[in-house]
Amino acid sequence: METAIIRLRDILQNSDNIVFFGGAGVSTESGIPDFRSADGLYNEKYAYPPETILSRSFFIKNTEEFYNFYRDKMLYPDAKPNNAHIALAELEKRNKLKAVITQNVDGLHTKAGSTNVLELHGSALRNICMSCKKNYTVEVILESAGIPTCSCGGIIKPDVVLYEEGLDSSVMVKATNAIYDADVLIVGGTSLNVYPAAGLITHYRGDKLILINKSETQYDSYANLIIREKIGLTLSEAI
Ligand code: ZN
Repeated sequence: METAIIRLRDILQNSDNIVFFGGAGVSTESGIPDFRSADGLYNEKYAYPPETILSRSFFIKNTEEFYNFYRDKMLYPDAKPNNAHIALAELEKRNKLKAVITQNVDGLHTKAGSTNVLELHGSALRNICMSCKKNYTVEVILESAGIPTCSCGGIIKPDVVLYEEGLDSSVMVKATNAIYDADVLIVGGTSLNVYPAAGLITHYRGDKLILINKSETQYDSYANLIIREKIGLTLSEAI
């Protein structure tokens, strides 16, 4: 086993206040592409870039076109938790991990068994009528055609944070507090380019900041341990 993973294992064994902060890279091993990466959705042939389609104003003005893209590229109903999700759920079960903070909207941490999951960008598994606030499952979105509508006639919107929309402040407060109080902070599968979410890790006060990412990030110089390996493999070997 690599030295870095042995060090990580040692750190995890000696802590009962671990917090994980993760991004799209956590779900790529489940077959969900990172739409910000070079081989992600940017290279797909759509009339607009993903960041335009996934914006509040586009959703309001071009709801049907939004849903065509959204059903096609953003929903992965058959995706299953991978080794990273499973290892983190196991650490929570052992009362060592206090929170998972994620930028992903796929719900895979919950599927893996994690219970304290802070979803900064919401969840594609939740969908809400914009008029009467009734809740709908993702199956309703997948099985509908065109614009999914509520029994009241209102438009159903995914409970995900679109571009131009603010993050849920109660989730942000919980995430900030979890990081502030953490003994060990593991950051994985994110290039830490997306604000305000990425700025959260500046609230960490400890001396066990672990970055697991294939490429460099702007926070590398703050890290106490950097592992440039696949996150699923790393976590499953380290727990
Ligand atoms: Zn309704």
